[in-house]
Formats: sequence, structure tokens, C-alpha cells
Amino acid sequence: MLKRQRTLKTTLEWKGIGLHSGREVTLRIHPLPADSGIRFVRTDLHGSPEIPALVDFVVNTRMATTIGRENATVSTVEHLMCALFAAGIDNARVELDAPEVPISDGSSNEFFVALERIGVQVQTAPLKVWKLQRRVEIKSGEKWGVAEPSSVLDVSASVDFDHHAIGYQNFRYIHGQTSFQEFGSARTFGFLREVEALKKMGLALGGSLDNAVVLDDRGVMNPEGLRYENEFARHKVLDALGDFALAGHLIEARIQLHRSGHDLHRDLLRAILAESELVEVAPAQSSSRRSFLRRLRAAAI
Ligand SMILES: [Zn+2]
Repeated sequence: MLKRQRTLKTTLEWKGIGLHSGREVTLRIHPLPADSGIRFVRTDLHGSPEIPALVDFVVNTRMATTIGRENATVSTVEHLMCALFAAGIDNARVELDAPEVPISDGSSNEFFVALERIGVQVQTAPLKVWKLQRRVEIKSGEKWGVAEPSSVLDVSASVDFDHHAIGYQNFRYIHGQTSFQEFGSARTFGFLREVEALKKMGLALGGSLDNAVVLDDRGVMNPEGLRYENEFARHKVLDALGDFALAGHLIEARIQLHRSGHDLHRDLLRAILAESELVEVAPAQSSSRRSFLRRLRAAAI
């Protein structure tokens, strides 16, 4: 496991289309000093307001995860957060000139490839991790999530849709073992009737077969088909890793999710942080020799 915090070597610039607005968005990701965390900045608004990428700033979980502070919001942060997490970036300033992160190809892959190309800068400050102390559980109808103490982040997600192209499927991610390539290209998905309804409401104007798996009654509409046999479950893990990155630090827990969405991820993450210790991973020492720092609640940040 990596022992020190990391940032980007230099600034990454990215242009793409916003899923809802259909308009071009420019994203600039800058390096930041250690212990800064990930911070989103709306450069198109007066005073360039800054929103920390932390669960306490989540203001909406309908269809995507939106963070906000006062009148400034940034939506669809989860795919970029997953790419930053997978690239091991702890500290970065993410500037954008629109209220949404570009949709890219509906996965985290292009962000991750761009981050890898820029390269990472290892910082001197040690990494911190949230160590879950006791089991927590969230249930909401047929959706549920359970987290248990573990020495490694381990996330399993299952989906169960009454559609012959999806049905029941699952995928498991184990930090340090599962490669990004096993799930990072899994795309977001939706049903044609929902996409049409959203477009009538002026939403998802940038949505197309270029950035989502779209299903109709017959099956997958995308001519290229699926990228993985169980792409839907893999995307659910991608979303979960992006949402859990809003912990601000790596979580050490075994997490199981069933039919989860961004709302359940947020509620489970809050429950996990309430029962976790923030621990410094001592550099150049074995993981068994960690020093307990202090109990920090997400609310205190
Ligand atoms: Zn997603």
C-alpha cells in the first residue's frame, strides 16, 4: 500500500460535454500541497467558490452525486473522483467553468488515462486512512449496504434488474489487487424511455450512445455492445468507489452493496465515518505499526 500522499506532477486540462447541459465544459486539475484534499472550484461564478470533495458537501444524489456550498454546485463528480482515487491522487484543485463534470465516455477511463499521462508527485506527508471500528448497515426498501471492519478496502456490488440484458450480476473490488482496467471502463447506463423523459425535461441533453449504455425492451442499443459481460455491476463498483472517495481518505472496510445508488452510498459513508478512526499510515513502517492520531469526524473538516 502507498504510504505517502500524492498529487499531480503538473496541471491537467480537459474539455468535454456536460451530460445535462450538452455544452462544452473545461476542466483544469492542478496540484495542491499535502493535506489539502480534493477541492472543486467553479471558475465561472463570482469569486470562484470552492467546494471540498467531502460527503458533508453532498447536496443531491438524484441520478448523480452533486456537491455544493451556498449557491455553487458541481454535479456528476463520481466518475472523476473514482479516476482520482484509482490514480492515487490525494490532493488536487479541480477547476471547472460549468455546474457539471464532463461526462466523457460515461466511465472513468479517459480521466484515468489523462492522469496517468500527467504523472503523480509523491509528497512527504504520510497517508491517512479511515479504519472502521464496528459493523454498520443501511437499508432502504430492497437496497442495502453493509460495512464491516477490515484491513483493506473491499467493495462488492450486486445489481438486480428485471431486464433480460442485466438480471442479477455482481463484481468485487479489492484495493491493491483489483486493477483499474477491470472496472474503470464500465459505463453508466439507462433505459431509453427514461432518457427520452429526461430530455423532455431539459436534462441529459448531452446524453448519447457515446457516453452511456442505453437499453430498450429488446436489449443493449449500443452497436458496439458491452465492454464487460457484467458491465452494469462493474459500473456500480466504479460509482461506489467515486462516492466513497468523498471520505477524504482511503477507507479500510469490507463493504457489500445491493441495488445501491448514490443516496445509499452517501448514507452508508456517513455511517462508516461516524464509526471510524482516522489513522496515519507511518511511512517506512509496516502497516502493523500505525500510530493512532485522533478521532476526527467528517463534520469537523
Ligand atoms: Zn456512474
